[in-house]
Amino acid sequence: MEGQGFADAHLHVAESGFSLRYPDIGRAEVLFGCTARPSEWDAMSSCGVRGTVRFYGVHPWYSGEWDEGTASRLIRILEDDPCAHVGEIGLDSKRGELSGQMPAFEGQLDIASDLGRMVNIHMVGCEKEVLDAVRAHARGCGAVILHSFSSESYVRPFAEAGCLFSLNPRILARSDARLVRLVSAIPEDRLLLETDAPYVPRDFSGMADFAERLAERTGNTGEGLMTRTLDNARRIADV
Ligand SMILES: [Zn+2]
Repeated sequence: MEGQGFADAHLHVAESGFSLRYPDIGRAEVLFGCTARPSEWDAMSSCGVRGTVRFYGVHPWYSGEWDEGTASRLIRILEDDPCAHVGEIGLDSKRGELSGQMPAFEGQLDIASDLGRMVNIHMVGCEKEVLDAVRAHARGCGAVILHSFSSESYVRPFAEAGCLFSLNPRILARSDARLVRLVSAIPEDRLLLETDAPYVPRDFSGMADFAERLAERTGNTGEGLMTRTLDNARRIADV
């Protein structure tokens, strides 16, 4: 698997040190670079990391930073840069009331949908609410990526809503049976892999190693998973 390229469907390339614990980052061909708050957007605009697809967003943890001025700035960035997308956005049931996070989430879905861009979604313990919002607000989106996806019982409705499923190395902590159930439920053309670097698990040692470990436990090959997920990322990003 020496020269195999890959796509990372969710990481934070504009944060310093994003590659410190990512030994094979140099082999990445496509990187979906996300931002969590407006103060990171300039760094994303000037990010020179090869293969980066730029995402601008307000993460649910910072939903208090979403207001009219931020919305106008996001629209301006997207209008000026036809290759820019929206993320990291979403809902997090472990961080306060969802009702407080909802205006930022729906507002950013609407903007991405109006402009036909991709969205990269953070979802913790609120599948139903995210599904409802995607159904109501994301119809025009270029693609809807569910970052660090883990809820196999929701694969079907999310797949029917057109979503893609991005698996994070943290999923390896699951039992074999649950891992196989999850991976086999995801349609082949909707699977993505990610690292969320620099926020990688302690035992992370590169995308190839993650793909290999995931493959071994789910009846695939690491090379096959990397090729398939690279193809999927290229298709949705048109790169
Ligand atoms: Zn993230």
